[in-house]
Amino acid sequence: MSIHHHLDAASLMRYAAGDLDPAFAVVVASHLAMCDECRQAVRVAEAVGGACLSDMPEAALSDGSFTRLSRMIDADTGSNDEHPAAPPPPANDPAADVPLPLSSLVGKSLDELQWRLVVPGVYRHRIELADTRSSLFMLKIGPGRKMPEHGHGGTEMTLILRGSYRDAIGRFARGDIADLDEHVEHQPVVDSDDPCICLVATEEPTRFKGIVSRLMQPLVGI
Ligand SMILES: [Zn+2]
Repeated sequence: MSIHHHLDAASLMRYAAGDLDPAFAVVVASHLAMCDECRQAVRVAEAVGGACLSDMPEAALSDGSFTRLSRMIDADTGSNDEHPAAPPPPANDPAADVPLPLSSLVGKSLDELQWRLVVPGVYRHRIELADTRSSLFMLKIGPGRKMPEHGHGGTEMTLILRGSYRDAIGRFARGDIADLDEHVEHQPVVDSDDPCICLVATEEPTRFKGIVSRLMQPLVGI
């Protein structure tokens, strides 16, 4: 699989530190399962994080402060082992339809998902997660269909699982991830012969531009 669009460095570091919202962590883990390059980058980020801790200057620590820090870390993680907060997931079986980290939430086949029509040509499958203030869902968008042009109330991540779309940033196909901040506005158009199926995490409801789009937003709910 040739992947052209990867995770933002900040997202990689936050994932490695176990600091991502659970909805975004599912999207990141799913991309990592498909992408050797980003999986390697997460390993490096974890090694750098570990090295930073071990390189803390001893002179800066007063007597007993290292012990206190260790206790705080142990109390925070509930253990004193050296496992990182978010290890990269194992590589995906290339033939698998659904990335491993996602399969426990939606099953193993994209063809068996239950979809709900939101607007003509656009279907959604919501994924319920505990402990998140973000939304996680899958979209199935028909060939030639456009999503309304939109900016973001916050960060948005989209991982393509089937088909492809094109927008001002480029072409996104299976394995590609669009890791976008709130300043990006885009209007994806599906350019594959089959519907494009993608996994999406959004920090806040997406803001559609234009009165029709804004009226439609409560119906779409994304
Ligand atoms: Zn990648």
